[in-house]
Amino acid sequence: MSANIDREKCNERKTYAEIWPVEIDREKCDGCGVCVEICPMDILRLDENGKVYVKYDECWYCGCCELECPRKAIKLRLPYLVR
Ligand code: SF4
Ligand code: SF4
Repeated sequence: MSANIDREKCNERKTYAEIWPVEIDREKCDGCGVCVEICPMDILRLDENGKVYVKYDECWYCGCCELECPRKAIKLRLPYLVR
């Protein structure tokens, strides 16, 4: 028995990062680097303007960055499976 898979639809699937992005308020971010230091996945970086961004699509939604950001510049929307 073989599974009936629509490969086109399968390839259209969005990643977690696209559906539940780590939202960074660039106005609030002052580039302190706290989130970059504490992210256990090491996926956050500062850009040339000293603002943080998500470099790799490997967030675990642990919440450290949101919790520790002194400027409350990060917002997470947790996927159902980790709520
Ligand atoms: S901890 Fe907050 S203010 Fe500091 S770099 Fe990260 S997002 Fe910006
Ligand atoms: S939620 Fe956790 S893994 Fe995701 S960016 Fe923030 S600190 Fe890193």
